[in-house]
Amino acid sequence: GFKMGIVGLPNVGKSTLFNALTRTAAAQAANFPFCTIEPNVGDVAVPDARLDKLAAIAKSRQIIPTRMTFVDIAGLVKGASKGEGLGNQFLANIRECDAIAHVLRCFEDDDITHVEGRVDPVEDASVIETELMLADLESIEKRMQNLVRKVRGGDKEAVQQVRLLELAQAALEDGKPARTVDIDAEDAKAWKLLQLLTTKPVLYVCNVEEDSAGSGNSQSERVAEMAAVEGNSHVVISARIEEEISQLDAEEAEMFLTEMGLEEPGLDRLIRAGYELLHLQTYFTVGPKEARAWTIKEGTLAPQAAGVIHGDFERGFIRAETIGYDDFVALGGEQAAKEAGKMRAEGKGYLVKDGDVMHFLFNT
Ligand code: GDP
Repeated sequence: GFKMGIVGLPNVGKSTLFNALTRTAAAQAANFPFCTIEPNVGDVAVPDARLDKLAAIAKSRQIIPTRMTFVDIAGLVKGASKGEGLGNQFLANIRECDAIAHVLRCFEDDDITHVEGRVDPVEDASVIETELMLADLESIEKRMQNLVRKVRGGDKEAVQQVRLLELAQAALEDGKPARTVDIDAEDAKAWKLLQLLTTKPVLYVCNVEEDSAGSGNSQSERVAEMAAVEGNSHVVISARIEEEISQLDAEEAEMFLTEMGLEEPGLDRLIRAGYELLHLQTYFTVGPKEARAWTIKEGTLAPQAAGVIHGDFERGFIRAETIGYDDFVALGGEQAAKEAGKMRAEGKGYLVKDGDVMHFLFNT
């Protein structure tokens, strides 16, 4: 599955947000009870109204949403790359994540201490980014030392790694995160394997006071501008509101949202933003037993999409009977779509589309 690491300075609302994410009814939905893998790791259902619609049409007995993992990564403070705070453990945690959700304090509250003594999310973002850049520089140096001998021995992979590490190093020494480096398609895989912290895509989460949850405030607007310049994304959320919603049942939550003038929980937007940031999409398998959502990367071919369900589906892939989401809904189900000629037999070269309803045929 895909993993988002929640980072940020102390007291910005990370834990509040993480608890809301993992305690919410949606997280515990279906037959996957919310499981705490570790105290700071949570598995969250990806909200998707399409899945409910498909299940209603097919009269599925079970609805199984696709899931995303969130990790609350505490300990990132100024000096963290030099071993202050929780030291290097959190760096290893970030390295394992596909993307970073960076929580920024955009709320004013004299009762809640700010570690830097002022509310300035743009400056806070740069404090954290600086730590990540320093950590990258350090790991690059270590790795280059380890690669020296292999390079002398003519190891081609090592030569490529060193070349890429040098590109990253040059950017970082210039004060820029490694994600600003242009990488050719043929280097993309090796680049990703370097797992540099500052190549991970960033979603800024602007934590605003309750009454700015819908509109944002002047601080979150500054973050929005920064994110646009960097090519990162941002969402506005009130962690306090999300915490309250997570303790309500569905009906109460609906009423609370209406009262606050909000259309949906901020967490839904957060999860969707994470999905977009990671270029993820969803396909569905639908039948009387269950309606289920599956996550794939944009640009995934049918056999690899099948492989998300089971390796055998990919290895023995024959074809995928596919109905577009709109056709499935407009025609009122699989049988009707089939009769209308809207069920396509797709082969190995088929690029799966977001919302496809699929049924895989395979050899065992
Ligand atoms: P963390 O250190 O980043 O994990 O921060 P916490 O989630 O523990 O929050 C630190 C404090 O800030 C707690 O007392 C929270 O209740 C409070 N807090 C979090 N979000 C908000 C908010 O949107 N508004 C206000 N006023 N306080 C908040």
